[in-house]
This record gives sequence, C-alpha cells and structure tokens, in this order.
Amino acid sequence: SSSGQAGHSFRRKPVIIIVVGMAGSGKTTFLHRLVCHTQASRICGYVLNLDPAVMTLPYGANIDIRDTVKYKEVMKQFNLGPNGGILTSLNLFATKFDEVIQVIENRADQLDYVLVDTPGQIEIFTWSASGAIITEAFASTFPTVVAYVVDTPRSSSPVTFMSNMLYACSILYKTRLPLVLAFNKTDVAQHQFALEWMEDFEAFQAAMRSDDSHMSTFAQSLSLVLDEFYKNLRSVGVSAVSGAGMDAFFKAIEASAEEYMETY
Ligand code: GDP
Ligand code: MG
Repeated sequence: SSSGQAGHSFRRKPVIIIVVGMAGSGKTTFLHRLVCHTQASRICGYVLNLDPAVMTLPYGANIDIRDTVKYKEVMKQFNLGPNGGILTSLNLFATKFDEVIQVIENRADQLDYVLVDTPGQIEIFTWSASGAIITEAFASTFPTVVAYVVDTPRSSSPVTFMSNMLYACSILYKTRLPLVLAFNKTDVAQHQFALEWMEDFEAFQAAMRSDDSHMSTFAQSLSLVLDEFYKNLRSVGVSAVSGAGMDAFFKAIEASAEEYMETY
C-alpha cells in the first residue's frame, strides 16, 4: 500500500479509531462510551458515523453519513433491499471522502482521536470497496487503529470464539493496521476465558475437544493459525454499559498508534 512508502511522515494527531465488529456486538454503544470517556478526561474526540441506516444515535456525531446520504431514498432510487441500500449509501459517501479527510486535517491540531462507527453488518464495511477506500484514506493520512468489538457472552463456546477470531484475523491481514480486540459486555460475562484461550493453546484445544464433535484436524490447524494471529494484537475487556476497561482500552490504542508510527 502507499502508506508503506519510506520517508512518509505522519502527524502524530489525531489517532483514528475505526470501530468494527459483528452486528449487535455493541459498536454504537461502545462508541458512546468512548465519547463520554474522552469528554470526562478532557481529551478531544471527534465522532464520525458511517452507518446510514441507524435510526437514533446515543452520541452526537460531528460528521454523520445520514446528513449527506438518505438511505431510504437510495433504496427507492436504485430499487435495493436494506443491505444493498446501506452498501450503495456507503459507496456514495466514499466518493466524497477526501472532503472528510480535509475537514479532519483542518482541525487536526485540536483533535486527539477520531472515533469512527461503522454499519451494523460487519461485512458491509470490511468486505466492500468503499470500506477499503475509507480505511486507506484514513491510514495514509493519520495513525489509524482498528478496534474489533467482540460480544463476549456470545463468544463463550470455543467454536463461536474461533469463528469470531478468524474474522478478526481476516481484518488484520486485509487492512494491515494495528488491531485492538475489545471484549465487550464484560458486565454480563468476564473475558477471562478468552485471555486463557489466547495465551494457552493447549487450554483452547482442550475446550474444543470437550465441545463434542467439533474438534476436527481442520479446527486444530485453524487454532494454530490463530496462535500466530494473537501475537500481533492487543486485547482488553470492556463494558460499553458500565464503562469498565476504558483506561486499558486507550492504553492499547496508544501502543497501537506507536506501532503504526514505527511501521508505516
Ligand atoms: P452494534 O450493532 O454493534 O452497533 O451494537 P449496539 O451498540 O447497537 O448494541 C447492541 C445491543 O447490545 C444493544 O441492546 C446494547 O444495549 C447491548 N450492549 C452493547 N454494549 C453492551 C455492554 O457492554 N453490556 C451489555 N450488557 N449490553 C451491551
Ligand atoms: Mg451500530
């Protein structure tokens, strides 16, 4: 990618945090929590909503895709279903993304973080041309980190956990950006099991074996891939509802931004 060119000097600020995760993992609620945390800590966060279909947002977005693109109109105009409507809205917005970058650059001195919310359905952002264009536009201008939100209570079975981690892994290799795993909803279920599985390959294999018929040699090979993946990321437990884990999250973001500065 162009961001890998030698001699490319980046401004330290702001750090872009792109929040992705499965539908219902709590991206929007987590973003709201991040906004509250930055305000309480007198850190300057700038908020960008890229979900054209969201009805109401709990936070005030500084830039909102809904102000530019009317998702329902797009659906009608192009005769699309909901997902096609969201994707086309994102495509339309991506064509003007240089303007968004310009707005952020103009304010760069005053901003510490830009918090980016993405559409509910993860693949609309992570597997679309417009998602790639937007990510690349950020990453070639500012230090950029991906925060992958995990629904912790829903990832407690080894097979679900592995599927979720494989998805996160694909995002790491697709974006080539530093990745922070945010194990969300720790007010409902602690993420300790996840840390154990990530640290101890044997423990995860044992959990897989006890989870009836699923422990195929294929699954075994996949968990080896993941072991390598875990070495390349940071993970923290958070709760968007209770606010637990915010300091740890921002520490992980800072370390990831450092990594970005060294790598790109
Ligand atoms: P998104 O689709 O990823 O943006 O997810 P939302 O932010 O809309 O959240 C989906 C659901 O999860 C909502 O009902 C939230 O209230 C709930 N939720 C989000 N974060 C948490 C959390 O930390 N703890 C609990 N208990 N529920 C949460
Ligand atoms: Mg959302």
